[in-house]
Amino acid sequence: MKAALEALIKLFYPDRCIFCLGLLEPDGSCSCRREVEMKCRLSLGRRETRFRESWPSFVISSYIYRDPVPEAVANFKFRGFTHAANEMARVMAEDAADYPELGACHLVVPVPSYRGRTLHGLVLAREFAKAMGLPFDPKAVKKTRETKKQHELDPRSRRTNLKDAFAADERVKGLRVIICDDVLTSGSTILELASVLRAAGAEEVYAVTFARAGNKR
Ligand SMILES: [Zn+2]
Repeated sequence: MKAALEALIKLFYPDRCIFCLGLLEPDGSCSCRREVEMKCRLSLGRRETRFRESWPSFVISSYIYRDPVPEAVANFKFRGFTHAANEMARVMAEDAADYPELGACHLVVPVPSYRGRTLHGLVLAREFAKAMGLPFDPKAVKKTRETKKQHELDPRSRRTNLKDAFAADERVKGLRVIICDDVLTSGSTILELASVLRAAGAEEVYAVTFARAGNKR
């Protein structure tokens, strides 16, 4: 019954390419993909960002945030395709497989939103955890207050904006944790969340994002 219902939903709302929103070929491919991969996909050795601070140990990102990646992220955010979350998570897990440290983690957490107001980050992190075969615990971290939008602030205000905005549960103690997010921009959000996880006793913190802002490739 469930399969029949899913088939019917697919008939009316077929899966679309996450980049050009065109209909996918029966094998799930799209003709735009080759060009996107050539232009925007980060190769091994270029996909890690290491911060001066000691945590998170590193962040890996699958794509550079350059046309058409921003459109793909916006479509995912505002149109909410489950298929898009699936596909993004699949690529992220594929890239994460090159890093044994990530496969040896205990837990995946999303970047929490205040009172669970935005869902897309949660869905992406859940799908990523599934693709990695790792436990997912959205309640291990929470956002304790409203903050201004990070992209509206200058780099210096970004960290102060987030100060004391996150909390981590003591259940992360001794665990190696992956933070999953859609886009890495200045890194302030991930740095702040990672430091909160560390303070709560997490043994190691890594982060995985779908895309990374910046022109370097
Ligand atoms: Zn396409």
